[in-house]
Amino acid sequence: MKISIKSIQLIFLLFCFSFTVSAQYQQAADTKEKLSFTNEKPYSTVKVNPVKGKKVKNVILMIGDGMGMTQISTAWVANHGALNIDNFPVIGLSRTYAANKLITDSGASGTAMATGEKTNYHSVGVDVQGNPLPSITDLASEKGLSTGIVVTCGLSDATPSAFCAKNPDRDKEEDIAADYLNCNVDFIFGGGRAQFMHRADKRDLMSEMQQKGYQVTRTWAETEKIVSGKVFAVLEDGQLPLAPVRGDLWQQASIKALDMLSQNKKGFFVMLEGSRIDDCGHWNDIPALMNEVFDFDQTIGKVLQWAEKDGETLVIVLADHETGGLTLLDGDISTGTVKGSYSTGGHSGIHVPVYAYGPQAQQFAGIYENTEIFQKIVTILNLK
Ligand code: MG
Ligand code: ZN
Repeated sequence: MKISIKSIQLIFLLFCFSFTVSAQYQQAADTKEKLSFTNEKPYSTVKVNPVKGKKVKNVILMIGDGMGMTQISTAWVANHGALNIDNFPVIGLSRTYAANKLITDSGASGTAMATGEKTNYHSVGVDVQGNPLPSITDLASEKGLSTGIVVTCGLSDATPSAFCAKNPDRDKEEDIAADYLNCNVDFIFGGGRAQFMHRADKRDLMSEMQQKGYQVTRTWAETEKIVSGKVFAVLEDGQLPLAPVRGDLWQQASIKALDMLSQNKKGFFVMLEGSRIDDCGHWNDIPALMNEVFDFDQTIGKVLQWAEKDGETLVIVLADHETGGLTLLDGDISTGTVKGSYSTGGHSGIHVPVYAYGPQAQQFAGIYENTEIFQKIVTILNLK
């Protein structure tokens, strides 16, 4: 057999290449320290499926932005093998791809869930041609239900925008902010004051919202005191701070929203977003991620207790996509130790979990397109 110098060189190069690749993977995995989370977060057990008849009066949609199965599993280990999310009796899987791209973003995936149509990457509230689409909040409000949006990001960020704004480009944040004047959501809470106040067109949308009848607030102390009417609470120029600084602010705002929106006898739809779970994925930062998922899970615990007491509330917890391609490599449940590795600084294309609790929860079992989240909620609340 004749082996040329060239083929020996090629084999040698291939050998070097494969060695480099595996060494890089080894390094990526091994540079992650094992992290211990010693302070166990409280969790509670609620009754499974508290059905009072078959009627659903209220729907609470909780979105963990970028929160795939691994983010939840890792937090479960870090919290010593227990989370409030363990209480959900019904689990489904949602396919997240956008109309023109396999790996989606929060704009396209948020739009799919908010309007029932797959749209282009980076679009919010519009179809692939750029035509505005009615969202769940629009339809619910037309039917006389109360509506809410409670997020930890800026309000002109993609996820909340998908439920209110109509724009083919999520980066047109000042235009998106102006759409809040037309979307008639009753309880609005988040950050992103810069897009409402420090604008190229010099409009002051905070005052315009006030003229529209909203009680406009800039601090939690002011917001907390409000007992009825419409709320527009924008607490920061940018996003709300990360969980260690934010404390239980988003939890409190979420429960406040439920208490106020439930004053409407016709019912309500609210979208609560743990927005910053996604940021931690982009940063490949497991400790920061754990804090965000813990805050999200703590809020789930409070929301489930609220829903259990109410009995006519359907709670859905899901993600818009996974962020970071996180893998859980090692850990110890008894010590709350985790070791993980990320494979990207962007999003990944895997299906994401959907958890449901309450009357009609069983509708969310199975594997389906993210657009079906909209269809199911619209059918359950009889919005069309
Ligand atoms: Mg988001
Ligand atoms: Zn992201």
